[in-house]
Amino acid sequence: RGAKSKYKRILLKLSGEALMGEHDFGIDPKVLDRMALEIGQLVGIGVQVGIVIGGGNLFRGAALHEAGMERVTGDHMGMLATVMNALAMRDALERSNIRSRVMSAIPMSGVVEHYDRRTAIRYLTSGDVVLFSAGTGNPFFTTDSAACLRGIEIDADVVVKATKVDGVYDKDPVKHADAVKYEQLNYDEVLDQKLGVMDLTAICLVRDHGMPVRVFDMNKSGALLNLVVGGKEGTLIDR
Ligand code: UDP
Repeated sequence: RGAKSKYKRILLKLSGEALMGEHDFGIDPKVLDRMALEIGQLVGIGVQVGIVIGGGNLFRGAALHEAGMERVTGDHMGMLATVMNALAMRDALERSNIRSRVMSAIPMSGVVEHYDRRTAIRYLTSGDVVLFSAGTGNPFFTTDSAACLRGIEIDADVVVKATKVDGVYDKDPVKHADAVKYEQLNYDEVLDQKLGVMDLTAICLVRDHGMPVRVFDMNKSGALLNLVVGGKEGTLIDR
């Protein structure tokens, strides 16, 4: 309490893998509860939170295609996986008494609301967390692209991407002990140096619309709140 947010509205991107915890498939409710706690801290200081969840803990179109399935069918399965993750996340948020809504880019009457930008903004303004599921609704896209798209659409102040490492490095810090972390990068540096933070579609989208992106480590407790109040966390990608 007493902390003042630097941002009024953020778009948080959570990968599906982040929901697995120690497992290698599926959803760990304990991890969801921890995330709900961190998200609740933002809501507590008046930050409007939109969330895009991935589906990589369940299905990825590209992987299913490699195993022999038609790509578009695989992508449809991947998008449905993000809806399941969003339902699980809503469940965790509501158990923590955080009001939340799930919207889907693919209409799924009776299960979740269909995505509508103006309605989403109304929910956000009234303090509800909005979970945007089913990615962009189109195959051949990723949820990183969906996060950038929704972030721009809802006029978020920043897209915050939660990863396993605390920012963007010049090489994989898990494999190389001498990897160096960038404090700040511009869009062209990310593209030129092929830093692989997000896919090219996503990077081009944020670059074209001047949407800042911050990459940080969600496993670090308190990191999300810290970056939202203006603390140094991870890497900032901007103009
Ligand atoms: N997907 C898609 N269109 C979208 C977003 C996602 O087809 O706009 C599919 C795609 O197959 C992807 C899967 O959903 O592999 C899960 O999303 P993603 O891989 O981005 O999840 P994450 O890596 O963040 O867990």
